[in-house]
Amino acid sequence: MSYTNNIPFIAGNWKLHNTIPEAVKLAMDISASSLDPAKAEIVLIPPYTALFELKKILSRTQIHIGAQNIFWEDSGAYTGEVSAPLLKDAGCACVLIGHSERRQFFIETNHTVNKKIKAALTHNLSPILCFGESLKERQNNNTIKKIETQLQEGLEELPIEEIKKVIFAYEPVWAIGTGLTATPAQAQEIHSFIRNKLAENYGNKTASCAIILYGGSVKPDNAFSLIKEKDINGALIGGASLKAESFIEITKEAIRAYKEKQ
Ligand code: PEP
Repeated sequence: MSYTNNIPFIAGNWKLHNTIPEAVKLAMDISASSLDPAKAEIVLIPPYTALFELKKILSRTQIHIGAQNIFWEDSGAYTGEVSAPLLKDAGCACVLIGHSERRQFFIETNHTVNKKIKAALTHNLSPILCFGESLKERQNNNTIKKIETQLQEGLEELPIEEIKKVIFAYEPVWAIGTGLTATPAQAQEIHSFIRNKLAENYGNKTASCAIILYGGSVKPDNAFSLIKEKDINGALIGGASLKAESFIEITKEAIRAYKEKQ
C-alpha cells in the first residue's frame, strides 16, 4: 500500500483500550460519518484482538487498519510476539513502530526499530516510524540531535525506494497523553528539520513526498492550527481517537487545514 501527502493522513492509536464489541462500535460510528474518503486517509489502530473483526466491517470502506507493534521475525519460537505475515493476514495495511510507550516500557531501541521497519517493508506493510524528544532533552536543547539519531539509526541500510514507503510520526514525548501540545510553530520547526534531513540524505523527491505526522495531545480545537503548518501532513492521535465524535472532528479540521494551505 502506498500513501500520498496530497491529502491529510489521520491515524487513531487506541492503545490498550476497547474490547472487541467496543472497537466494532467505534469503527462503525467512524465509518458511518459523513467524512469523504477521498479527502483524508484514515487508519484505525486497535489492540490486536480487534483487528480481524474491524477488517471485516471496514472491508467495504476506504478506512484502513493498522497494528501497534510488530516483531521482526516471520515465525518461530517467540512467545507473545506478532509478525508481519500475521498482521497482513489480519488485514493490516500499516504498523506503528517505535512508539514512545514501547521505547519507554518495553525497552525498544533504534536498532530494534530498524529491524521492525525492515520486516514490515518486506511484507508490504507501511511502517509508521514514531520518534521524538523527552522534556529533559528539549530543555537541554538536545531535540534536534535526538531526532537526527532516531532517524539515522531507525532508517539504517534502507534503500531510498524503501524509505519512500515509511510514514514519519514526530511525537514529542512530553506531549503524549499529557494534554500539553507543541505549538504549531514548535511542531513546524521540527517537521521542517525532518523534511530537510530527508532531502539531504535521500533526495528532494523523497522529502517532498514524505508523510510527516504530528502526535501529542491532538484535539479538535488544535488540529487545524497544527495541520495548517506547511510540513505537517496529518496526525497520530491517542486519547481523542477513542471517541468517534472527536476523531471525526479532528479529521474534518485536517481536511479544512489542507484546503487552506493548498
Ligand atoms: C499517541 O499515543 O501516539 C498519542 C499521540 O497520544 P495522545 O494523543 O493521547 O497524546
